[in-house]
Amino acid sequence: MKILVVNCGSSSLKYQLFDMEKEEVIGKGTVERIGTPPSYLVYSINAEKIRKEVSADNHTEAFKVVIDALLNGDKSVISSIDEISAVGHRIVHGGERFKEPTIIDEEVIAEIEKNNELAPLHNPAGLSGIRASMEVLSSVPQIAVFDTSFHSKMPRYAYLYAIPMRFYRDYRIRRYGFHGTSHYYVAQRVAELVGKPIEELKIITCHLGNGCSISAVKGGRSVDTSMGFTPLEGLIMGTRSGDLDPAIPLYLMRNLNYTAEDVDNILNKESGLLGISEFSNDMRDVMKAAEEGNQNAKLAMEMFCYRIKKYIGSYAAIMNGLDVLVFTAGIGENEPEIRAIVCQDMDYLGINIDLQRNNFKGQEREISTPNSKVKVWVIPTNEELVIARETARLIS
Ligand code: AMP
Repeated sequence: MKILVVNCGSSSLKYQLFDMEKEEVIGKGTVERIGTPPSYLVYSINAEKIRKEVSADNHTEAFKVVIDALLNGDKSVISSIDEISAVGHRIVHGGERFKEPTIIDEEVIAEIEKNNELAPLHNPAGLSGIRASMEVLSSVPQIAVFDTSFHSKMPRYAYLYAIPMRFYRDYRIRRYGFHGTSHYYVAQRVAELVGKPIEELKIITCHLGNGCSISAVKGGRSVDTSMGFTPLEGLIMGTRSGDLDPAIPLYLMRNLNYTAEDVDNILNKESGLLGISEFSNDMRDVMKAAEEGNQNAKLAMEMFCYRIKKYIGSYAAIMNGLDVLVFTAGIGENEPEIRAIVCQDMDYLGINIDLQRNNFKGQEREISTPNSKVKVWVIPTNEELVIARETARLIS
């Protein structure tokens, strides 16, 4: 069985074609700059990165480029589109309705559309991908897998905000959480690696990429997570502030005459590592500058790690302990120094890492000392594999 996994951004379409017999990726690439020519199809052959100019004025054209690449040319991996059993789509916001992966029909599309306001950067792009796929592969089942679903079983006291209840009742304002597919994958995978049923484990998963979030996973369920009503809450991110006193946006608007739109931009696009360092949202740049003595960059790193530490402490408290701590995504997988700073002076919690073992990038590895009560692991995330598995499960 072959499953195509699609992840659409506003101007990009990432795809992976899985052969589910061996859970192997047989075709993979990205269409970039959709709608702003020149558009490109980017893929690799034998570790060589190939970039071809293509015509992709919209997601439907981009999807046709993908199908053409899978069928024809130097990257041909299937001989007919009939070999594609289903398409799995990554959808960021499933709201309260979608607690599980779902077969897409017009009613489901209308429901997803209702959440567009809550994820304006992501959901409309995901819907464009769905429509493109339905147009080009009209007889193939389409499945939506939601970033919010893994967090949908949080207890009420964790997902509600202490504002008048009518805002939840009337407008569904609550914590939803994001990166669910990633938190789910690494939690499952680490349970396998430590050789215990996930139902018996208390796990904290740190997804540290350009967007960052952290989850408390108890008995296989996400019981709390740092992102909230939108992906702005929680940890410090590349350009997002994460937690702050809610009076600050009000102050900016009342006293400094910023509009709601301005504040949205400041908190989502100008804050985080970029706001503190005053030059980059990319942790690689920030760390390099810190090493060269840039004080703002040092502060950005300190604040980034300090916030993660605070969350680890609070999540250990709500779960009454901790068995496994996991790092994943761009920073979590590739920055040993950040992992080391986060885990420093955490022995009271039973976290001890071996700095030698920690000194590597991008692989699955345990980094805790043999006598560390809490096992600490680095697990490269694989959201596409979860989407492919869920899609295959749903159509079987
Ligand atoms: P992501 O959103 O998961 O792609 O992560 C992006 C973040 O990971 C950026 O802050 C990068 O600086 C950081 N990062 C560090 N090392 C790497 C690496 N080798 N490859 C990709 N991202 C990296």
